[in-house]
Amino acid sequence: MNVVTVLGSTGSIGTSTLAVLALHPDRYRVHALAAQRNVDKLLAQCRQFRPAVAVLTDPAAASRLQQQLHAEAIPTEVLSGAPALEAVAQAPEVDQVMAAVVGAAGLAASLAAARAGKRLLLANKESLVVAGDLLLQALREGGGEIVPIDSEHSAILQSLPADRSRWPSDVRNIVLTASGGPFRRRAADTLDAVTPEEACAHPNWSMGAKISVDSATMMNKALEVIEAHYLFGMAPDRIEVLIHPQSIVHSMVNYRDGSVIAQLGQPDMRTPIAYGLAYPERMASGAPWLDLAAVGRLDFERPDASRFPGLGLAFAALRMPAGACAVLNAANEVAVDAFLRRRIRFTDIQRINADLLAAGSAGPCDTLDALFELDRETRALAQERVARLAA
Ligand code: NDP
Ligand code: MG
Repeated sequence: MNVVTVLGSTGSIGTSTLAVLALHPDRYRVHALAAQRNVDKLLAQCRQFRPAVAVLTDPAAASRLQQQLHAEAIPTEVLSGAPALEAVAQAPEVDQVMAAVVGAAGLAASLAAARAGKRLLLANKESLVVAGDLLLQALREGGGEIVPIDSEHSAILQSLPADRSRWPSDVRNIVLTASGGPFRRRAADTLDAVTPEEACAHPNWSMGAKISVDSATMMNKALEVIEAHYLFGMAPDRIEVLIHPQSIVHSMVNYRDGSVIAQLGQPDMRTPIAYGLAYPERMASGAPWLDLAAVGRLDFERPDASRFPGLGLAFAALRMPAGACAVLNAANEVAVDAFLRRRIRFTDIQRINADLLAAGSAGPCDTLDALFELDRETRALAQERVARLAA
């Protein structure tokens, strides 16, 4: 039996992960499920998966969950508070940790899993963006491994040689595909008027609110460029982004001999989730088969840098001193939240991101504490910008 903790179990990735695990009860057991405050959904998941531990970081929500579980005589232990995420990520009985909390809030638990030598199934790309070097160091020291869940990075891993020592010599570059989101064709001078509902209506993928907005601004691809840099050890000039509106080719690798190897599939996160869980084997995911004749055509185009300035910010951040990626991520988290609360306009998100990256809070960021301090400072500055733009 392989034992799994699912962080962010009530979210889009968490729910899809449990759907895959439910197909393989003979192979996987759930040790812990963790979320922030969604009592009803976590209760339903506890009924189905009977985890040893359930975490809600919000204390009031955790005590409501505890009462409900007690009333139903379900013997799951309930923990609350952010440190509980780390506890269930590093528990000795756990083999794999699905890191599917959204935002930098997932970082400490990702690090804890890495240090404890777990297999870290990383959906929470913000962990790598904020603390790529620290997370890789923790994996080396802990003896753990990271398997990306992000569909593009799963595709790259599937398209690279199994022998990692061949990556630097055989690979010319990697190409991350991007759908272009809902506003690929929308007149640029109308982007100011975009509503949260429009931004969250992704043409191909059904996802949580934050990553949906990130897809609409293409900050999602920006974060993924940084993620790819750390996962695959690729310098920025060996990472390319290509718009592919059908989201069927999930990414590809260009080899030095002119070969291109890509991974294709339906836009369904159960495929990369099943790949991560079973890696390096394969198992059923529940995702529908790809019927290329039904898809009919696959289109590709270069991204429009003026419409999607976030991509340029990612490449700039990678060339700046350490900490710049953490600044970009913190600014973006604040800006996206303010947009979802209708305090700022859609186009203000990139204004805030660009301003804060240019303001460049420097300082040492080789420890988690220093990074958290940088994250806090940047959030405070971004909140000031939001207040001014909202006035
Ligand atoms: P959702 O918003 O759907 O879910 C977020 C999950 O995280 C929920 O379980 C939520 O709990 C929990 N959560 C949020 N904040 C906290 C916190 N402070 N402490 C503990 N738990 C918290 O997000 P997604 O599933 O869409 O995305 C999760 C991660 O996966 C993101 O990093 C995203 O970029 C990445 N990803 C997502 C993809 C997708 O298809 N959705 C694709 C590729 C990557 P609660 O419900 O209680 O609020
Ligand atoms: Mg992705």
